[in-house]
Amino acid sequence: MHLVCVDCAARHPAEMRYSCERCGGILEVAEPARLPRPLPGAGMWSADAALCVSDPAAVATLGEGGTPLHRAPRLAEAVGATGQVWIKDETVNPSGSFKDRAVAAAVARARELGMAGIVCASSGNAGASAAAYAARAGLPAIIVVPTHTPDEKLTQIAAYGARLVRVDGHYSNAYRVGLELAERHALANVTTTYLNPYGVDALKTAGHEIFDQLGGRLPDWVLVPTGAGPLVKGVVQGLRERSGGRSARLVAVQAEGCAPIVRAFESGRREVEAWGTPTTFASGISDPLVGYERDGTHTLDLVIATEGLAVAVADAAIRAAMALLARREGLLAEPTGASAVAALEMLLADGRIGRDATIVCMVTGHGFKDFKVWRAMPPASGADLPVGDRAAEDRPG
Ligand SMILES: [Zn+2]
Repeated sequence: MHLVCVDCAARHPAEMRYSCERCGGILEVAEPARLPRPLPGAGMWSADAALCVSDPAAVATLGEGGTPLHRAPRLAEAVGATGQVWIKDETVNPSGSFKDRAVAAAVARARELGMAGIVCASSGNAGASAAAYAARAGLPAIIVVPTHTPDEKLTQIAAYGARLVRVDGHYSNAYRVGLELAERHALANVTTTYLNPYGVDALKTAGHEIFDQLGGRLPDWVLVPTGAGPLVKGVVQGLRERSGGRSARLVAVQAEGCAPIVRAFESGRREVEAWGTPTTFASGISDPLVGYERDGTHTLDLVIATEGLAVAVADAAIRAAMALLARREGLLAEPTGASAVAALEMLLADGRIGRDATIVCMVTGHGFKDFKVWRAMPPASGADLPVGDRAAEDRPG
């Protein structure tokens, strides 16, 4: 196992490294180590994937990964799809989001390397995940979040006993403070941008599972809620590994209020530039990429390589998609988690995705993560009515 720079191909040893010494580029894992045998009943660790760890004693698992792929016929009907629409339900991961795959692997690798604790900069979900796995592993954790992080996510992080550091402004400020703290205290940085190569590598398991759950075939499209974009990489890599190098077409879904990758895609530029101030309620993809614009460029390269798309959806469309998922398929998602469904509706309507296509939407985070959005949701019987006394009466005390 070693690390390779995605930009200049320089080779580095498999230490806890976060960028290429030669050019500052993103590092990825090559020839990943694997456990001597799979761990039965332990989610992604039970599937015989090479997850960069060879010592079973380093793995602190909560059963992450191995999530269901649900056929969604009632959702398909509502959005006008005539082909198969599938939901990859990442909300059932142990801490409620897909981040558990990356964090569990990054924490295991940190333990294997004998590191004394972890740091994670997060908009909430990765921080909650890091706090949970640190608790499970018996490691101290420092979680750095923007001050506007949803209350439920802050409560979840604190519940696991992690030390919480709040930073003014948007996510990229927290990212910078996370780098400083990890360096100063010699802790493993498990931040879930492209920073930690071992964490990113584990996201390939989502692609493996999709391929296997579809009976060994590729879907036509996979729609992925996208901040920096490591889940885009994970899905593409996993599908390629399973299918002899081919991939579905990927759609990177961002919010209109924070869409640096979409802006580059639409203008035909191949270099992503940082976004100004994010203005979306979808906290999980509210990442302006300030200081790590290369992450966005790497994701854009992957999307283009699959002949995919990058699209932005309005908060109102996300809210409508949350209601559709809950009321038509029984799946409670946070705003980021429903953004892929919002994008699907738009792309079917404008013809960029054919109605008869086989489509997978990644639903990345649970609705409990940001419950104030649900508290403000109009009741189903009058979805076009403003929230008023009626909604208040419907709520339990
Ligand atoms: Zn390099």
